[in-house]
Amino acid sequence: MLTEEDEPVVKESILKTKKLFVLDMDGTFYLGDRLIDGSLDFIKKLEATGKQYLFFTNNSSKTSDFYIKKLASMGLNITKDRILTSGDVTINYLKKYYNGKRIYLMATEIVEKEFLERGINLCTDDADAVVVAFDTSLTYEKLNIACKLIRNGSDFIATHPDFNCPTEDGFIPDCGAMCAFITASTGKKPKYLGKPYKETVDCILDHTGLTVDDIVFVGDRLYTDIATAYYHGATGLLVLSGETKLKDLENSDVKPDLIFESLKEVAEVL
Ligand SMILES: [Mg+2]
Repeated sequence: MLTEEDEPVVKESILKTKKLFVLDMDGTFYLGDRLIDGSLDFIKKLEATGKQYLFFTNNSSKTSDFYIKKLASMGLNITKDRILTSGDVTINYLKKYYNGKRIYLMATEIVEKEFLERGINLCTDDADAVVVAFDTSLTYEKLNIACKLIRNGSDFIATHPDFNCPTEDGFIPDCGAMCAFITASTGKKPKYLGKPYKETVDCILDHTGLTVDDIVFVGDRLYTDIATAYYHGATGLLVLSGETKLKDLENSDVKPDLIFESLKEVAEVL
């Protein structure tokens, strides 16, 4: 049986074998606009020990360029290949299973531009599938088009399941809430992508060429970050710097493999 003194050794030996750290951002790397203490040193330690890292967010209202700028303002400069959003997971999924098909996309202007640039065939009628992203420019007209298309047989896909997005002013309705509106009108439920679904892991594997055994999902939410690892065979590392408190684990089916106070403590065992 392990004693408390054995614990850092076990954590160290698990993490030593891993090649890629998939990092959540809010609650893990920063809180709102404030960097969490030790985050930059954690990245330096990853680089010094030859580990790869990738930021991942379910937020599909913005593109990776937004997060590249945000991280740069906090002192971390990364290239575009080091960040993925649930929008990227959706593009990856559409290219595999809806190659060349007609897609009606409900999304912000910058996300729509990204889908077009990546070769997705966007349309407003006769769609093979309706894709709902976190559309902060949503209108009744867009909802009406989506409902009509789905009622007429288009598939229904959502970038991620979150009902609410936390902001400094409290929760704002997210992609899952928009899908609930469409479900209420059409009786159809979407296929969800993003965390915690398998398509997110597939997208990361396609992007990096690694296997699930190589990957650690790092985050502050049990039902998204840790669930992605738990349900699809990767390692889940929970940080207590955001939403989850230790007592939340008692009522959770989803269990992390490793628990740390913050990225600062992870850096100490790498
Ligand atoms: Mg988070």
